[in-house]
Amino acid sequence: MTEGKKPATALIEGGRRKDWTQGIVSPPVWRASTILFENVAEMEASNPPRQGRLQYGRNGTPTQWSLAEALTALEPGAAGTQLFPSGVAAISIALMSVLAPGDELLMVDSVYGPTRHFCDSVLAGIGITTRYYDPLIGKGIEALIGERTRAIFLESPGSHTFEVQDVPGICAVARARGLVTLLDNTWATPLLFPAIAAGVDITILAATKYIVGHADAMLGTVTATADYWPKLERMSRAFGQHVGPDDAFLASRGLRTLGIRLKRHEESALTVARWLADQPQVARVLHPAFADHPGHEFWARDFQGASGLFAFVLAGGSKAARDRLVDGLSHFGIGYSWGGFESLAIPSDPERIRSATRWQAEGPLVRLHIGLEDVEDLIEDLARGLAAYEAD
Ligand SMILES: *Cc1c(COP(=O)(O)O)cnc(C)c1O
Repeated sequence: MTEGKKPATALIEGGRRKDWTQGIVSPPVWRASTILFENVAEMEASNPPRQGRLQYGRNGTPTQWSLAEALTALEPGAAGTQLFPSGVAAISIALMSVLAPGDELLMVDSVYGPTRHFCDSVLAGIGITTRYYDPLIGKGIEALIGERTRAIFLESPGSHTFEVQDVPGICAVARARGLVTLLDNTWATPLLFPAIAAGVDITILAATKYIVGHADAMLGTVTATADYWPKLERMSRAFGQHVGPDDAFLASRGLRTLGIRLKRHEESALTVARWLADQPQVARVLHPAFADHPGHEFWARDFQGASGLFAFVLAGGSKAARDRLVDGLSHFGIGYSWGGFESLAIPSDPERIRSATRWQAEGPLVRLHIGLEDVEDLIEDLARGLAAYEAD
């Protein structure tokens, strides 16, 4: 719990308990499988396993507990955080912890592709149905709630197209109807959107992105309120979820600089986005901070800022020419993921993964992650790419 500390301070001090660190500033790596006890009575007293009590490697050491505690401290109102080996593992176990065969899940249509895949394959296979809804539905979600509806999953802004949802509005409806809400908060992190305080029950991060921040480890996290924490802990343990201490260390180290990194990502991304909006080859920029962006009013009301990921729609042209534009950029890498220190560009075709809504645009789409390079270099690179696109 933050206990009055401002987020920037919680980020620096979180999880650094003296008995876990011995005073070492950056919580060190404790590697373990077997942990030895003095006698049988002491071994038995280590049960049931819980964070903060050494029992067996799978249940963590101070390295993992420290990271979990630091993340919980960023979410006022949260009871605890579980770590997972990837963002997708975090999402799937979080869903499994609140759903049972026969239940229905309401899922936002702009959700991350692999989340959709989990629902349509694993959940469908065990008799849990998924109904997709328009990201801009807001409190109108009430009309979709049926007898079997148990949970609402949100992701805001949405993957690739960045629609911002009315998260507090949807959560208020859910609470009044006795439903649980889960949010994929990877884009904003708790620094830009403290989700539990906004009414979310379970908030999820692909910590692979901004928490690790250096494109060198995979990790997922789930933070829950007291109502859902025991279920989450039980399900994680049942599925044997564990994060290696080296990866937890990297995430913990990345976390300390999250605040200043996000500021720079935000600033440079806005500079690039505003420049792109003025280019004749660009039809539209999809950035939550733009006044005409779908759901901008919710971003302006609820968020503390923007991160470095957004997209733009080209004014006409073919997908092949768009792909050549991306291939020709020299400061932007081409690859999955984002949230590291480096800039990335990927082509995206959202129409392929929608079912409740239709994606229509003036031309093909490019998603950018703006890294920590000099922003003028990035703009020059894009200017060359757009000029070649026009001539293509
Ligand atoms: C990348 C991503 C994930 C998945 O995280 P992994 O660590 O790659 O499994 C989930 N949600 C969003 C929004 C993402 O961008």
